[in-house]
Amino acid sequence: MKSFNLIKPYFIENRFKIILGIFFLIIVDLLQLFIPRIIKWTVDDLTYNTINREKLFFYALYIAAAALCIGICRYFWRKFLIGTSRRVEEGLRNQIFSHIQTLSQSYFIKTKTGELMAHATNDVTNIRMATGMGMVAFTDAVFLGTSAIGFMIYINLKLTLYAILPMPLLIFSARYFSRKMHRKYRTVQASFGDLTEVVRERFAGIRVVKAYTLEDKSYKDVKRSSIDYVSKNIALTRITGSFFPLMVLFTNISLAIVIYFGGRQTIMTTITTGDFVAFISYLNLMTWPMMAVGWVISMIQRGKASLDRINTIIQTEPGINDCPETSSLKEPPGTIRFDHVTFSYDPNHHHVLHDINLTLKKGWTLGITGPPGSGKTTLLNLVPRLFDPASGRILFDGRDIRSIKLTDLKAMISFVSQEPFLFSGTIAENITFEPYRSDDNDLISATKSAILYETILSFPNGFNTIVGEKGIVLSGGQKQRIAIARAIYHNTPILILDDPVSQVDAETGSLIIKEIQTLSGGKTVFIVSHRLSTIKNADLIVVMDNGKITETGTHEKLAVTNGYYAKMLKLQQLEEDLL
Ligand code: ADP
Repeated sequence: MKSFNLIKPYFIENRFKIILGIFFLIIVDLLQLFIPRIIKWTVDDLTYNTINREKLFFYALYIAAAALCIGICRYFWRKFLIGTSRRVEEGLRNQIFSHIQTLSQSYFIKTKTGELMAHATNDVTNIRMATGMGMVAFTDAVFLGTSAIGFMIYINLKLTLYAILPMPLLIFSARYFSRKMHRKYRTVQASFGDLTEVVRERFAGIRVVKAYTLEDKSYKDVKRSSIDYVSKNIALTRITGSFFPLMVLFTNISLAIVIYFGGRQTIMTTITTGDFVAFISYLNLMTWPMMAVGWVISMIQRGKASLDRINTIIQTEPGINDCPETSSLKEPPGTIRFDHVTFSYDPNHHHVLHDINLTLKKGWTLGITGPPGSGKTTLLNLVPRLFDPASGRILFDGRDIRSIKLTDLKAMISFVSQEPFLFSGTIAENITFEPYRSDDNDLISATKSAILYETILSFPNGFNTIVGEKGIVLSGGQKQRIAIARAIYHNTPILILDDPVSQVDAETGSLIIKEIQTLSGGKTVFIVSHRLSTIKNADLIVVMDNGKITETGTHEKLAVTNGYYAKMLKLQQLEEDLL
């Protein structure tokens, strides 16, 4: 029931449509219940020879009019009830998406994209089905079912009791099967999530697949997941496959009972021939509500499983959030200080950062270098609070960044990650996140600073060139330069660059860094780089090793020590001399 609260607002919002929909549905049911009465009158009149052409014409007219009204009312109940279920679907999907977006980085590390996509597609569809057709089948089961029984009792109580004899069996088996179905639906959903993820990953990594001729392996992986999905579905079909025929069997048993006992009662004139025929019509009318009981149960089970899964996501708190005592940040910080910062990705695992202490003044550039895996990227990630330290604090002017409104903090920072991501769209949109304006001088100067302007002009559509999945393929270096242009364009007081020119040639890389430093003025810049020429002009350089800062100083100071920096410097100078 807790999960139901998730969709309750949509029901409240659409309550008038739901009431109207159910109203039209009940009219359809009433008209359907009326038809056997006309059949009864006709048959009785024919049996007792009390019919004339005029009467016959009216009976036919009633049936035609009822059919017409049923058609019109069906249109309206579908429009209102199915329309409402579509609204539920839309609202829920938006709600899931906007909530997932608020979750922290660690959630996305743990959760597979395929699983998230299954929630947004399959689960939402199940809930739509359960709400839309669920409401219809439930109303029919309750109203049409009980009314049909009411009319049957009106004709003959004893015959009705015989006819509904298989009912307890039906209810018992519906309960039994629905429980089994519920369990199976869960495994089917989970398997669909796995399949989606496997397919997505094989296409995302198509370059590796092709380079290492892994097509066969990929095919087998997808096939394995696909077989698993199918077998789980078949297991489910085995249950549904026995359930629905069983429903039909029960209704036919009822029919057999009515034919035998009702036939005898007709012979004995306890009921009229018209009643007998009408009784069978009511029994037929009951077939759907009886099936609906089963159908509704299975659909609601399915929808509930999906709703539970979605509710789990919605209940997931963003690990990193504004705490009650957060306040806004208007001015860029004069100092940024790491105060005994320690961090680990997994609380049970070793620390990735140990006791980091650093102070940066406004306008400084901090260069960070060190062997791979030493914790450089992790250190950068802590500044925009992609993760929070396990202990210690990061302070802006002495104020813990956890006490700053998250949106204010993020608005201060531009981040160029190691592997830049481009959205499908134009180059201009990827830099500005807005449609292209040819008079946007900031865009032009940002691309000039990222030594990208000439390259963009050489593309057939310039700034409007489409990149990403449907556009041109850019080199790694070009992507990095777009990401740098994006960071420069957004002109934030803090710039975080994680190995920003690793895929750009050394000369262009140095030019870009020089540009950034000239532009940066009062900006505080963090640059991680293996290439020491990139960070040699930094105001402060730190060398990291195994999560610790092992060397601190300026280029001049570090170059004359015996440490990692000096060794790497010699090695890189040697490389340059050889080139
Ligand atoms: P660097 O940037 O210096 O190459 P990282 O900060 O990326 O180093 O990684 C530091 C350590 O943290 C490495 O041992 C790495 O395996 C580990 N690490 C990085 N990201 C994660 C993660 N998402 N989950 C668990 N461990 C991680």
